Amino acid sequence: MLNIQISQLAQKIIDGYELTYEDALKLSQIKEAALEDLLFCADRIRKYFKGNSIHLCSIINAKSGRCSEDCRFCAQSGHYHTQVKEYPLLEEEKLLEGAEAANAAGASCYGIVTSGRTIWGNGELERICLAIRQLREKGEITPSASLGELTPQMAKKLKEAGLVRYHHNLETSERIFPRICTTHSYQDRLATIRLAKSYGFEVCCGGIFGLGEEMEDRLQFAFTLRELGVNSAPLNFLVPIPDTPLEHQPPLNPREILQTIALFRFILPQQDIKVCGGREKHLRDLQSCFCRRQRHSDR
Ligand code: SF4
Repeated sequence: MLNIQISQLAQKIIDGYELTYEDALKLSQIKEAALEDLLFCADRIRKYFKGNSIHLCSIINAKSGRCSEDCRFCAQSGHYHTQVKEYPLLEEEKLLEGAEAANAAGASCYGIVTSGRTIWGNGELERICLAIRQLREKGEITPSASLGELTPQMAKKLKEAGLVRYHHNLETSERIFPRICTTHSYQDRLATIRLAKSYGFEVCCGGIFGLGEEMEDRLQFAFTLRELGVNSAPLNFLVPIPDTPLEHQPPLNPREILQTIALFRFILPQQDIKVCGGREKHLRDLQSCFCRRQRHSDR
């Protein structure tokens, strides 16, 4: 694809066009020399739809380790002997202290995150709902939760407590998923996201790259996120965890990471795209790449 065609495609998106899979495939096959133009055009789209404001969110690891699931990248899985700290659900007071700290640091959204396929028993959901209720009463920060698989009963209680946003990652493409996790299915994950949407929650749903997937998997994954109508897409880049099955997975090339982020912006022009885990380690100085391009374009 020529540079002029990349630019025309970006303009079409700004004018309301939805990128097709074929368009995305062509963009993913551009020559190395055209990468700067792809980043520049992704940044134009970002600037048009999202402006120059940054949305900061913060999470608390509210329950850690001993997860029954076998996601091959995850330190929290009880299937592997990692060095992760294990502890049960934090007390309500700690959940609220975490929100105070997040608010003081400038975050606008606070996610309560628990390890495990879902939460169950011991009043866990009730404790989380109490914390959410108090956060809504204070009104300082938007509460979000990432509690694994959602049931209609859980969704109803969370909604009544005032939860605004539910986070549940799809992680990767449907094709790759069975190689990454065998204890639950892609369909299970899709069902939770659809359920969260049906209860009116904003949905934060993304995944992780560097699992051995092809570029086509990433595109399919992005198109699935678009189909689902997620509000926000957190993108993570594998930092291999010792003693997990992916501990020796080779790192992604930083330019490939930038290209992936740019392609997601072309496919998801209006969503919040959050560059999350692995950003510092893999991108280092290139983290400022999009901003630097923007400053050039502003001149
Ligand atoms: S379900 Fe979540 S916490 Fe459990 S192993 Fe998978 S990614 Fe980790």
